[in-house]
Amino acid sequence: MRDPLISLAYLVASILFILALRGLTSPEQGRRGVLLGEIGMLIAVLATLVKREIVSYEWIAAGLLLGSLIGTAISLRIPMTKMPERIAFSHAFGGLATALVGVVEYHKLRGLFGEDAIRVTAEHGISRLTMGALGFEVFLGSLTFTGSIIAFGKLQGVITGAPVTWKGQNAINIGAFFGTLGLIGCLIAMPESAPHWMFLVVCATGLSLGFLAVLPIGGADMPVVISLLNSYAGLAACATGFALKSNILIIAGALDGSSGLLLSIIMSRAMNRSFANVVFGAFGGVEGKAPSAGAAARSYNEATVEDAASVLRASRSVIVVPGYGMAVSQAQHAVRDLAGALEKNGTQVRYAIHPVAGRMPGHMNVLLAEANVPYDTLYDLDAINDDFSHTDTVLVVGANDVVNPGAKTDTASPIYGMPVFNVELARSVIVLKRSMNTGFSGVDNELFYLPNTMMVLGDAKKTIQSLSNEVKAG
Ligand code: NAP
Repeated sequence: MRDPLISLAYLVASILFILALRGLTSPEQGRRGVLLGEIGMLIAVLATLVKREIVSYEWIAAGLLLGSLIGTAISLRIPMTKMPERIAFSHAFGGLATALVGVVEYHKLRGLFGEDAIRVTAEHGISRLTMGALGFEVFLGSLTFTGSIIAFGKLQGVITGAPVTWKGQNAINIGAFFGTLGLIGCLIAMPESAPHWMFLVVCATGLSLGFLAVLPIGGADMPVVISLLNSYAGLAACATGFALKSNILIIAGALDGSSGLLLSIIMSRAMNRSFANVVFGAFGGVEGKAPSAGAAARSYNEATVEDAASVLRASRSVIVVPGYGMAVSQAQHAVRDLAGALEKNGTQVRYAIHPVAGRMPGHMNVLLAEANVPYDTLYDLDAINDDFSHTDTVLVVGANDVVNPGAKTDTASPIYGMPVFNVELARSVIVLKRSMNTGFSGVDNELFYLPNTMMVLGDAKKTIQSLSNEVKAG
């Protein structure tokens, strides 16, 4: 009776995981999606805990307690802007756990723990399918572990955010990748008799490839890399499912693996870069650069808060374009407050949300939701791009690349072809940023030098708070 009930619980959990992913496709249903995923995971964990194979509960209880304490403390303390780092950190441990399970299972099935250990295990001996699953599990799990640690280090600034490149790096990485696949092939061909060192080399190359493949990628591309590593962790978990004959791990791992891969591809497309360019292109640092000498010599309209406030007061329609700078300065609550003051003044305020604004998917949506900005005032690129030409004022809050008109016209630009907002078509544009520095892509922005653009330089949150005060004072 117990086994059919466990299978039923796994089926319910799998359906909840699929519904959770469905919910995460829109901000309105996002919270519900997360809740469904959590309930699904709880059911899956409880069903696993009543399995016959569990020998003792002491270590599981200790791990659960310690993990829950650390996880809760981390989640309560980490701010929203540090979310990519937090995700990289947890992927690292997910990858490590998967790799360790694979190492233990391999040693157990090959009888390398000694006779006593074999006696307490249900089976001894290793099939080709199990060997293949263990090989991929350990390889992808160790790669995810070290790759995620490097991604975390780059985002945190512990390791340089600039791409670290060396001669022949892609050839070395590709060679190591295919060499490891060859070794896994040998392990599959001789599951019972392959020399032990082969398995150890698969672990070692997985660990080394994590370092070697992520070091050459620029810090600001880390969100795409983290999403890719997420998919590796999912595939590793899926392989664990085959090795341990666990249907729930196979399903959850496959969902994780495919959704992570799709997200990486969607993010690359939204930046108009090929997936290969992100992974092998050594592009982008974490921080922007000073403008080029040519741009630095050009004049621009530097405006005061008072000038900007009077333009906003006189506007009937305003579109706010938030970007990475809003996240850095944590200006979302101030933006909401300013929008409230403008709306009281009879101004229509809408928000234009670019798919790659900020540094992670949905970055702007999450921040604006935190400040209780109504969902129905947020517009995607396609929904709002034609409206800029009949809008009085665009307020650019710490955005740069996503409002760069050069992406439409400058064929030499690294962001040429990336879809951008037509902000320059509005009657007036107010740009809030600290300096004339570039954004993520490191390219100058023509928008800042146009006659209808006012640059209000300073931290976005402070500037917006002053703007609010001015607008309210009327
Ligand atoms: P961006 O091009 O990186 O520009 C952000 C701007 O914010 C900078 O120019 C910076 O100028 C300003 N800034 C920083 N701190 C500020 C503060 N405290 N107050 C005011 N301004 C501040 O950002 P974006 O327009 O959002 O574009 C995102 C870029 O990241 C795109 O190129 C995208 O392809 C890339 N990317 C996105 C994702 C994703 O998933 N969203 C993932 C990977 C890469 P100052 O230094 O002068 O202040």
